[in-house]
Amino acid sequence: MGERLLVPRMEEHAVSIFARMSTLAMQTGAINLGQGFPDTDGPLIMREAAMQAIAEGRGNQYPPPNGLPVLRQAIAEHQRRFYGLEVDPDLGVVVATGASEALQATLLALIDAGDEVVMFEPWFDVYAAGVSLAGGRRIGVPLSGPDLRPDLAALQARVTPSTRAILLNSPHNPSGVVFTREELQVIAEIAINNDCLVIADEAYEHLWFAGHPHIPIATLPGMFERTVTIGSGGKSFSFTGWKVGWASGPADLIRAVRVVRQHLSYVSGGPFQYAMAVGLGMDDTYFSEFRAGLQAQRDILVAGLADIGMRVIEPQGTYFVTTDVTPLGFPDGMTFCEALPEKAGVVAIPHQVFCDDPSVGAPYVRWAFCKQPAVLAQAIDRLQVMRPDGHVGPDGPDGH
Ligand SMILES: *Cc1c(COP(=O)(O)O)cnc(C)c1O
Repeated sequence: MGERLLVPRMEEHAVSIFARMSTLAMQTGAINLGQGFPDTDGPLIMREAAMQAIAEGRGNQYPPPNGLPVLRQAIAEHQRRFYGLEVDPDLGVVVATGASEALQATLLALIDAGDEVVMFEPWFDVYAAGVSLAGGRRIGVPLSGPDLRPDLAALQARVTPSTRAILLNSPHNPSGVVFTREELQVIAEIAINNDCLVIADEAYEHLWFAGHPHIPIATLPGMFERTVTIGSGGKSFSFTGWKVGWASGPADLIRAVRVVRQHLSYVSGGPFQYAMAVGLGMDDTYFSEFRAGLQAQRDILVAGLADIGMRVIEPQGTYFVTTDVTPLGFPDGMTFCEALPEKAGVVAIPHQVFCDDPSVGAPYVRWAFCKQPAVLAQAIDRLQVMRPDGHVGPDGPDGH
């Protein structure tokens, strides 16, 4: 057929690295530390709430397009309780089919053909696809230096009056970096000085570790009115299969997002919305225990990867750890990740695929630690074969 099928601007997004690596994991029987989903389900009371809603016939038919009132109320209350933000539950919140749809609806609503969107790279792949869908132009700003901090001088240089939006993600996937108040302050000043919007992807807002609290940029002076903040029930409560997320912010921005979102999935799963409202209302113990559990998993994987000889950038948030794999004798992360399933029976993801500037992510690989401690220990055992000296570590191999 000579005719065009896929629109050209989406061709570069044709292959998802996650699908490719998960297929490789299946073929080789590898432990999949590539895709970021927990191997333990979230709170029982939320599962019961979803089952009860189904049994009682609540939410089994189309819920309201902008989200169930009880969930919009819970989201507004959550923003007040954790961050002191005053969000209008009727006009300032929209529920979506995951943070992914909230992001895409936001980009499609706010970005017109030719508009520039500045984002830190490595970026989450959904951002690049979303900007292309909208016909916008993505402009990368690196996370740089040995600790992968946001390059604020580069941001200052690349944000101009023709920038429509800065797309921010903290805690940051894939690096595990949590932006500091000082960094956010500079980003806020740049946004205000250039009068651009901010899209804040806060999918990992509850996944930060001791000493690195998450600070929503919308809490900084002058920022609420120009920021759409995005949350993910899948990430906050370990129900990534339920696909409930949301956007919140000032009424004028959220109105724009609502207009587009109603024409995407129209509504998001009703019974799960009831369950998310229960989750958002859980007391602080849930959130602190969730973090503590993940921090323990982080510590297992960080220690194991460092022991093998990689340089580890200790994650401050998210459920990913980044390592520099060049000390193991590999030229870059992609080469390493392509060899890893066959050589060691483990799957990880290279940062390179999330960067336009190939020099930015080249040495780095992302590993997910949202897995049970026994799985992490087994992965570390398998990775012993990757030691640069070819010798097994102090703990010995497991015969793999
Ligand atoms: C997982 C993820 C999302 C998408 O969240 P869903 O609620 O599953 O759609 C958005 N942003 C980042 C950075 C993520 O890692």
